[in-house]
Amino acid sequence: MIDKNKHLIVVSVDALVFEDLEYAKELPMFGRLLREGALIERVRTIYPSLTHPVHATMLTGAPAGITGIDSNERFEPGNHYATWYNLLDEIQCDTILHAAKRAGLTTAVCTWPVTAKGSDVIDYLVPDLMDDYLVGREDDLIGLFRDYGAREEIIDIVEGALKRCDMKLGHPAFEEFQAYCCAKLIRRYQPNLLFTHLCYVDSMRHRTGVFSDQVKIAVRETDRWLSEIWQAVVDAGIEDSTDFVVLSDHGQMGICRRICPNVFLADRGYIRTDENGELVSWDAYVKTCALSAQVYLSRPDDKKLYDEIYTLLSEMAEEKLYGFERVFTVDEVKERYGLSGGFSFVLENDGFTSFSDEWVRPVVRELNITDYRYGKATHGHMPEKGPQPPFMGMGPSFKKGVVLPEGSILNHAPTFAKILGLELRDAVGKAVEEMLGI
Ligand SMILES: [Zn+2]
Repeated sequence: MIDKNKHLIVVSVDALVFEDLEYAKELPMFGRLLREGALIERVRTIYPSLTHPVHATMLTGAPAGITGIDSNERFEPGNHYATWYNLLDEIQCDTILHAAKRAGLTTAVCTWPVTAKGSDVIDYLVPDLMDDYLVGREDDLIGLFRDYGAREEIIDIVEGALKRCDMKLGHPAFEEFQAYCCAKLIRRYQPNLLFTHLCYVDSMRHRTGVFSDQVKIAVRETDRWLSEIWQAVVDAGIEDSTDFVVLSDHGQMGICRRICPNVFLADRGYIRTDENGELVSWDAYVKTCALSAQVYLSRPDDKKLYDEIYTLLSEMAEEKLYGFERVFTVDEVKERYGLSGGFSFVLENDGFTSFSDEWVRPVVRELNITDYRYGKATHGHMPEKGPQPPFMGMGPSFKKGVVLPEGSILNHAPTFAKILGLELRDAVGKAVEEMLGI
């Protein structure tokens, strides 16, 4: 049953973990969510535990093998800064945004990953602009927002947000921009469904480690943006018909080095370079997913090549020297995590190493806090490892005080669909009925 007077606001606090709630519960908005809402303490995310794959899953209820978003970036061998998966069209299955459109509900999205250029489906879209979109167009941000899906009727909101903060400065200016846009969209349009994504906590974890004073500051600042968004709900007069969800996509784990497995493949002739070290051709190539890596074969059906690489990688994993502690075949990750793609193997980190895809020495490289893959902490690892992301929901659809110790991120989108009375066609997960009062 579709109720066009219902509202659901979903805020993803990137890399928030259950352990943060001990501090966050003293803050106004997190405290209110924890007192007045339902909580899943630890949510099992997908593999790889990377932002764009997980955010696609949170729109679909399906793992990466079904959404097709198998990493943050596409596989572009030789390109260390490959194009990010970020367009709504790249998701290969039904999303809750499509479901809402079919049902005649209004939707707003503010910089949620993998929704750019989705304005045929999303009514009010402030697209997430990736760094490579900005190259050469730093002074044409409004044009970029238009090109990636912002409709003319909300351009004044984007302009107002840009006046408030220079989003090119990164975090937390970017979150100030987002909170402003969300509040304006809610006050003006009261959309039935709104998704937004705040990254300051994630950014501080990458820069300063999994737990630090700066992470606490980021949690406190995030509470301020949550309060700003909630105040818009109150001002719009939709407080009693709005469910407010705050969730997270993954945790992070500390690292102390990054390693380049492609160097070992080049040593054995599987990667060939010219005299300048530029990539010429390859039979096997390791693509980094930060704390995991996906190994592609040029001829996946060549059994001799497959066996050679599998044996080599398995021997290296046993040595416990090369940064990875295990090698999965694609069949194993499909069975275990619903992950599949064009790769043949997945390498899982050894607990302190991130992967880099350079094919020239040095094999071990320094950390670099300007790249999410190589900061003091990062993610992409097996979802059962490390601190886990929580889920909080308050409002008319949630049972106050329900605390579930664990859950699955595959259930988030089906839960949203249940709240709004929508049919989600390709979801693998199920609505979490225990915390819903509908
Ligand atoms: Zn993330």
